[in-house]
Amino acid sequence: MNLEPNFIGGEWTTATDADSATRAVDSINPSDTRDCIGRYAQGGAAQMRDAIAAARHAQPAWGATTTQVRSDLLQKTAIELAARKEEIGTLVSREAGKTRAEGIGEVMRASQIFQFFAGEAVRYGGENLPSVRPNIGVQTSREPVGVVGLITPWNFPIAIAAWKLAPALAFGNAAVLKPSEETPGVASELLRVLQRNGLPPGVANLVNGQGPVAGAALVDGVDALSFTGSVATGRKLAQSAIAGMVRVQLEMGGKNPLLVLDDADLPLAVECALNGAFFSAGQRCTASSRLIVTEGIHDRFVAALRQRMRAVKVGPALAAGTDIGPVINQRQLDMVQRYIEVGRGEGAELVEGGDRITCETPGFYMRPALFVDTRNDMRINREEVFGPFATVIRARDYDEALALANDTEFGLSAGICTASHKHATHFRLNVRSGLAMVNLPTAGLDYHVPFGGTKGSSFGPREQGSYAADFYTLTKTAYIGH
Ligand code: NAD
Repeated sequence: MNLEPNFIGGEWTTATDADSATRAVDSINPSDTRDCIGRYAQGGAAQMRDAIAAARHAQPAWGATTTQVRSDLLQKTAIELAARKEEIGTLVSREAGKTRAEGIGEVMRASQIFQFFAGEAVRYGGENLPSVRPNIGVQTSREPVGVVGLITPWNFPIAIAAWKLAPALAFGNAAVLKPSEETPGVASELLRVLQRNGLPPGVANLVNGQGPVAGAALVDGVDALSFTGSVATGRKLAQSAIAGMVRVQLEMGGKNPLLVLDDADLPLAVECALNGAFFSAGQRCTASSRLIVTEGIHDRFVAALRQRMRAVKVGPALAAGTDIGPVINQRQLDMVQRYIEVGRGEGAELVEGGDRITCETPGFYMRPALFVDTRNDMRINREEVFGPFATVIRARDYDEALALANDTEFGLSAGICTASHKHATHFRLNVRSGLAMVNLPTAGLDYHVPFGGTKGSSFGPREQGSYAADFYTLTKTAYIGH
């Protein structure tokens, strides 16, 4: 099998690092482990240094180019992604295990993000203000940060790369992308699309490789680092970034609560829980993992959710009729299975699913798991599981439900299902999370508004929408005497 190259300074290269223990990694389809998407060269510290140097070399000219040139690149990229959404969406499904609809939807999301930042590239600017002193004007302007390192996870392999690359390039930065080891194929395809649509050499580079090797090397020599992934990795990276005075943005895990109050529309609440907890095999940072349900509706809600769960079809991502694909790999499947044992050991009751299943092709399949009779201090309610796994916590009333929702070290997304305007408003104002959803699943976001969390979920400025400029630009304040 051919070795799939990295992309450094406008050249596709299979060079690997002599020091790197792993020279190549096969990207395996989690719905069919006999299907290998490709064998990818694994860069190490040397490739990373080359990529950072290429970006450093290319950035001044890119930062000085007209905003129209940058906008055109992003616009054309958006158009190609939309035109090829089925083909690239199928690759997303093959490599990340998402259903066909999810894969195509994600490619369309990436296209919309490039489209949005094609506009931002020409729209962003500064302010003119009067000085508080006589005969002086004040003008603020935004400048590129320089070279940005981008480290991404596997669960949204094209959308997350897009929501980092598009603003980085729109605002005149050069970038080095280190995607997840699990999804090198999708990342390579995205770089090829950018290249075809006019990306100058070195402005965006791609180095596939192991996190602790290639990822860890993407701190030295960059001006800013944007990371999405687990809390453990984010914390490590933050320390080295801050030690090197590198501007850093981290988007990490969640343990997102969905409150269901007595007055909720039951079918709506069940759909919100089912979608939020289990779609994309629960592998979303915004997944509803804690379902906090008040006394009066608890038993009816659990019964209705169990019934809906039984109707859900788990299967190969690209098979017709599949609602939930496999989890990403054997390690993740084993980890979710371990949490099933942890839950049982803690005295929670597994009332639905949780078992591994076999399908027509060999893959990492399990039925979505639902635990009831759980307490918020159990490990299954404190630690991110990142799989098709949810718990129900019984609450006396709204006040207790809100206190339970906030009693977590995470703060990414939180939802409430209720007919009460008073409770919905109070929740929106008092839940400690970056995203608050009313009568909607905790997952499912727009591309033009800020995204991010509080507490242990996020660090640094928000991603996406116009707020992305706060990370990808530096503000200069000029005082002009006249
Ligand atoms: P991960 O932390 O294992 O890996 C993320 C990236 O970091 C990968 O590219 C990996 O190679 C790299 N990496 C690993 N170790 C590294 C190191 N020592 N130094 C530098 N880079 C390193 O996470 P994952 O398993 O790929 O993704 C799942 C996690 O991502 C979950 O915790 C999920 O909640 C989180 N996530 C968060 C968001 C968000 O926006 N908040 C979105 C999606 C996923």
